Amino acid sequence: MTVAVLPASFDPITCGHVDIITRAARLFDRLIVAVYAHTRRRKNILFDLDERLAMVRESLEGVPNVDVMSFDGLIVQFAQKQGAQVIVRGLRAVSDFEYEFQQANLNRKMAPGLEVICMFASIEYGSLSSSIIKEIAENGGDVTDMVPPPVAEHLHRRFSPAFQ
Ligand code: ADP
Repeated sequence: MTVAVLPASFDPITCGHVDIITRAARLFDRLIVAVYAHTRRRKNILFDLDERLAMVRESLEGVPNVDVMSFDGLIVQFAQKQGAQVIVRGLRAVSDFEYEFQQANLNRKMAPGLEVICMFASIEYGSLSSSIIKEIAENGGDVTDMVPPPVAEHLHRRFSPAFQ
């Protein structure tokens, strides 16, 4: 049985993430979608872990072979603990490559048995990122084509004047 882990912050999950997850889920017996908790070092995180987990679960309803879990610390340690053989990453542009290449080499050094597989983003989602979506939503732009419906709702609520 081949188990793969697909890690990200999912702040929030986008249609690009859902596309990669759906395609990766067809390749493995089990795909663990791993939501980075960020308990120690907080990036520019908008949604707390529970909200991010809820949005990921709602957005992936009906996608077979997928489990959603949170993790903290090193992804290689989490993957090994879960009995995974593969880490899946998405590649959008050349700019993603350098980071992923460096990360994959370091991960291989720490966990030689764990393989990193990169999948190319679908052309329609190649320019999507969580940070761009947050910026558009914060400024009142329409993101309904870029995120699953439950995420559009969360963003709308978060940036509505009533929330401020
Ligand atoms: P983090 O902030 O945790 O790095 P990202 O969302 O930036 O989370 O990236 C997590 C993974 O998801 C990366 O492998 C990234 O390339 C992939 N990813 C992000 N957006 C897309 C997209 N639009 N299409 C395909 N893969 C994507």
